[in-house]
Amino acid sequence: MLLLYILSLLTSQAYLSPVTKDALFQYIDDHQNDYIQRLKDWVAIESDSSDPSKRNQLQHMMQVTKDYILQLGGNVEMAELGEQEYSPGRKLHLPPVILAEFGNDTNKPTVCFYGHMDVQPAKKEDGWITEPYTLTEKDGNLYGRGTSDDKGQVLALLHAVESIKKIGLPVNVKLFIEGMEEVGSQGLEQLVEEKKNTFFSNVNYIVVTDTPWLSVKPGITYGARGNCYFLIEVKGARRDLHSGGFGGTVYEAMSDLIYLLDLLVDVKGKILIPGIYEDVLPLNEQEKELYKGLEFNLDELQADTGVQTFLHNTKEELLMHRWRFPSLSIHGIEGGFSGSGTKTVIPAKVIGKFSIRQVPNMNPSVVEKQVSDYLENKFSERKSPNKMKVNMVIGAQPWLANMNEPQYLAARKAVKRVFNIDADMIRAGGTIPIAKNFEEVLGKSVMLLGIGGPDDAPHGQNEKISKFNYIEGTKLYASFMQELTSF
Ligand code: MN
Ligand code: MN
Repeated sequence: MLLLYILSLLTSQAYLSPVTKDALFQYIDDHQNDYIQRLKDWVAIESDSSDPSKRNQLQHMMQVTKDYILQLGGNVEMAELGEQEYSPGRKLHLPPVILAEFGNDTNKPTVCFYGHMDVQPAKKEDGWITEPYTLTEKDGNLYGRGTSDDKGQVLALLHAVESIKKIGLPVNVKLFIEGMEEVGSQGLEQLVEEKKNTFFSNVNYIVVTDTPWLSVKPGITYGARGNCYFLIEVKGARRDLHSGGFGGTVYEAMSDLIYLLDLLVDVKGKILIPGIYEDVLPLNEQEKELYKGLEFNLDELQADTGVQTFLHNTKEELLMHRWRFPSLSIHGIEGGFSGSGTKTVIPAKVIGKFSIRQVPNMNPSVVEKQVSDYLENKFSERKSPNKMKVNMVIGAQPWLANMNEPQYLAARKAVKRVFNIDADMIRAGGTIPIAKNFEEVLGKSVMLLGIGGPDDAPHGQNEKISKFNYIEGTKLYASFMQELTSF
């Protein structure tokens, strides 16, 4: 306990001090000011993909990235994606995707890194303590929009390429860098498909450099949950009715909906839909062991969320239910009365919204049938004359990699070398469509090797990356490329 307490007092810098010093690492240390300056230059470009008025800056950001890759000696192709209609009749030029290549030696493995150059919106008045587009160093952190998501991570990778090129690239490196990630990666899946037999044909490994660690300990992400999103629509009268005139005389749509929503999940979070757990991969001893070693602090989660009692009270149980078991959440009700005040309406039509996070080996079309059958059954048992309809509007599959693939072993060795610690093998509770897309379309090994910290606040105010993660992360990518040659 005391040891844990002392550890929690230490900063990540002290906890994870690198032990191995070699020429490559020395070179990176010697150039950290240049690396921070470049991040500063890139953060200053407001490449917000959601704002049409910033589109020129986003296009400029892609050019700057291209120029730097050329300067490093890479070959670059800019793949055009055409136009985007962002409101009726108004079109915008989509930023091109950068396809780059360093080295073309058939005796070496080829690894393709994915990242993005667009950012979320940011304004000082949203509550930033610094100017969001002015990189500011404070207490060992580099604050600014895009520092963690994802310019800082991509730059760490590019700097790794820059440093390792001095001694010779151990692998062929490809880059696939887009500019529309924050708004749904329009056109990207089609481009991956188009480039399958050209750009991607000789790629052995795909690495996504756009993820955080679970704690101050480096994490390698090998899975993400999918999501099936459902709408339950219940329709009663032709129009909304007055509860004074009709209360006690009609079957109410809202009551039907609440009844159905309450049959989905119990107080302990158990999903009540028959068969839903049937395809969930059983937990084995080896996997259980992995969870024991994870660095994760429940007290911090309590403090951060203000939630005193979680559904599970050990770190292992909590993380398993976040990552490797399905969950059902009720999100809201459309229609009906939701404002302040005391309107006495009987809503004619209401739509309940909920989703089920998917894990291997759940199949969205099976889940769709299980949910529909269950709700239709329950509704007919209720004997309400109202009309009920269930619709699945999103059916995103989960993603799970085999962590014994060579690139995972190489990444673990690289973490050990740079940080002198075993990497946490982690998953994402949310959905990472790009990982599943790469795997499905290309059939290649995919890994998420990011360098973001758990408290970087991507998308939020005061986004940052720690200087430690940024510089040691550069060493991590460089080491990863070196270790990859031994598998
Ligand atoms: Mn990102
Ligand atoms: Mn993002």
